[in-house]
Amino acid sequence: MIIDGKLHSEELRKKIKDEITKLCQNTKDVPKLSVILIGDYLPSQIYVKNKQKRAKEVGIKSEVIKYPETVSEKEILNKIKSLNNDKEVTGILVQLPLPKQISQKKIINTIDPKKDVDGFNPLNVGNLASGYDAIIPCTPLGCLLLIKKIEKNLSGKNAVILGRSNLNGKPMAQLLLKENCTVTVVHSKTKNLKELCSNADILLAAVGVANLVKKDWVKDGSIVIDVGINKQGDKIVGDVSFEEVKDKVKAITPVPGGVGPMTIACLLKNTLDCFKARAT
Ligand code: NAP
Repeated sequence: MIIDGKLHSEELRKKIKDEITKLCQNTKDVPKLSVILIGDYLPSQIYVKNKQKRAKEVGIKSEVIKYPETVSEKEILNKIKSLNNDKEVTGILVQLPLPKQISQKKIINTIDPKKDVDGFNPLNVGNLASGYDAIIPCTPLGCLLLIKKIEKNLSGKNAVILGRSNLNGKPMAQLLLKENCTVTVVHSKTKNLKELCSNADILLAAVGVANLVKKDWVKDGSIVIDVGINKQGDKIVGDVSFEEVKDKVKAITPVPGGVGPMTIACLLKNTLDCFKARAT
């Protein structure tokens, strides 16, 4: 089965829209997402434009605050502090990557954890790792929702995660541990990559290496989630050799059209959740 991320993301966005319509009828108080965009990096501009478009569709107010590449760290930190104090703003996102004069760590630490729609602030990271309620990073959350479309009960499953980034691999590991999976995280220094992956009931690839995962890396009947986005000529491909793997596994996400659309839908979900948490 090919997991249709576009379809599942549409369903999630519809649910979010319905909930916002219900919550916000007869009031001007609606979720508001403020996005800070620094520089002219084209992929960031495209991502932000998409996020804004999708936010508007579901009834989330959004603003994009743009700065030139040369902006100082202090100016961005001050802006985040003022957004933290702005009652109208319920979600804050600083689009990564950042120019080199700006510390990603400082930026992430400064965003109010209650408005941290990306789930990168250490308080949210720590809560997730401790098994408490947390804002969960959008891509791993989207991956989990897709896995659950295929298999509701993940208890006891052998999950292997390729990649250990703060953005993807690590939060994914925490989420799957919470689901009672047995989790192995593998990375560029891991020995026997192929052997470890081929024992996975759930294999999640978040590496950034085109077509790394081949047919003999996957187990018959497994679920394969491909987070990778890699340019190959004029095509976008994932970390998994989709064509050779797809008939061996129970379910697989395509690239594009798999995890990507879910990431944006989960950003909207996090924005709504931050709004609801503030209101209570
Ligand atoms: P990252 O920060 O570069 O991390 C990559 C991870 O993969 C690292 O842990 C690295 O190991 C490991 N790795 C690299 N080459 C490897 C190899 N040959 N064998 C085994 N492990 C290897 O990347 P990221 O931010 O997590 O992103 C990963 C991919 O997902 C990228 O293609 C990115 O564009 C994509 N992405 C997609 C979405 C989406 O919405 N679909 C969202 C975010 C990212 P070390 O730690 O040892 O270096």
